[in-house]
Amino acid sequence: MENVIIIGTGCAGWTAAIYTARANLEPLVLAGEQPGGQLTTTTEVENFPGFPEGVMGPDLMMNMEKQAARFGTRVQYDRVDAIEKIEGGFRLKGMMGNDYETKTVIIATGASPRHLGLPNEKELIGHGLTSCATCDGAFYADVPVAVIGGGDSAAEEATFLTRFASKVYLIHRREELRASKIMSDRVLAQEKVEPLWNSQVVEYITDDEGKMTKIRLQNTQDGSEYEKDVKCVFVAIGHVPNTSFLEGAGVECDENGYILQKNGTQTSVEGIFAAGDVADHVYRQAITAAGNGCAAALDAERYLAENE
Ligand code: NAP
Repeated sequence: MENVIIIGTGCAGWTAAIYTARANLEPLVLAGEQPGGQLTTTTEVENFPGFPEGVMGPDLMMNMEKQAARFGTRVQYDRVDAIEKIEGGFRLKGMMGNDYETKTVIIATGASPRHLGLPNEKELIGHGLTSCATCDGAFYADVPVAVIGGGDSAAEEATFLTRFASKVYLIHRREELRASKIMSDRVLAQEKVEPLWNSQVVEYITDDEGKMTKIRLQNTQDGSEYEKDVKCVFVAIGHVPNTSFLEGAGVECDENGYILQKNGTQTSVEGIFAAGDVADHVYRQAITAAGNGCAAALDAERYLAENE
């Protein structure tokens, strides 16, 4: 039986691996569908401390993986479909038919930004389509950008983007924001913000190099279409925490599916810990996920010592 299995290879997962490996717990990491997590879909990361010139997201993740491997972390490419309680620990059921037995589990499966489902969006991510204003806003100084969504995230992103962009279109499919009053008032008071009510983006239009140049919108009331010039679209229509595989495992989640933590990173099931965006809909930063991964490793280590 393993001491600890870490599910997920984003910042939280690799940091948990580095700490548990250095504590001689010989962690096994199960890497799922998107090895490296959300940072593999971004370009330059300017806000991760220690990189004064910035670092490319995929490079940062590769370095974390190398650092974890240096201390003996093992990696298996398998998606976990279910977790069940067994004597002395847990059995994880892998998609490939493998079972893994472990005394503790650290869930670091992250969250996936929700997208509209338009045809060319996969290729555009990192080239004018993103879900993180904090990460990418500074790259769009003095140009028009758009934010899609009407919740707190959209309001927050649009307000933040007014620091850089020449214009921020706030595109919402209805005619009032879902965001809290204070955040709605704040964003709508910004001179650079132009709300486009009752509007839905139906096409991302690119130049010959595949970079975003325009969006085509449809009025949700009368079906009429119109276009706007934008260099980047920030999609803020919610995140989906990757927790569907936990059904039946007894791990409590909030109404949006985010894992609830207590006493640090402990979940409602003793011996199962959670770290990073899978349990955090507030901060959602690489550095906070890494910090939380460290905390989960220390919590798992303490739990193992107490239960020896
Ligand atoms: P959210 O509240 O679920 O809002 C998502 C928004 O996206 C809604 O306005 C929704 O439109 C729109 N939307 C969803 N699917 C869409 C689609 N296919 N096409 C176009 N629009 C679509 O998500 P969130 O803003 O990410 O917030 C999530 C949670 O985090 C909330 O509880 C929020 O309060 C919290 N949060 C808090 C803060 C803060 O306090 N600082 C910051 C960010 C988030 P409809 O309104 O028409 O449904």
